[in-house]
Amino acid sequence: MIDPSYFTTTFDHVGVLRHELGHILGFRHEHIRSGAPPVCPHEDTTGTIDLTAYDPRSVMHYFCGGVGSRSLTITEIDRSGAQQLYGPPLNSFQYQEV
Ligand SMILES: [Zn+2]
Repeated sequence: MIDPSYFTTTFDHVGVLRHELGHILGFRHEHIRSGAPPVCPHEDTTGTIDLTAYDPRSVMHYFCGGVGSRSLTITEIDRSGAQQLYGPPLNSFQYQEV
């Protein structure tokens, strides 16, 4: 379901979908981590695991406290965290003989 506000947001529309797909893959909001500006919304972090250092430009970071991005692009730190969880991209997958 896509909320009607999606069609009127000033954020990059593809970026919003990148962010939402991050949730589908299991990633929480970056701005709930220590190091984020205190004005950013808080959420319960019970059960979360820090995969990387705090990334103020993460696709999963809200635009708050002077950090985050309206373009919601995937950063190198985002890639690192995703690869720790899911492995390398398929285009670099190599077959190994067992
Ligand atoms: Zn979100």
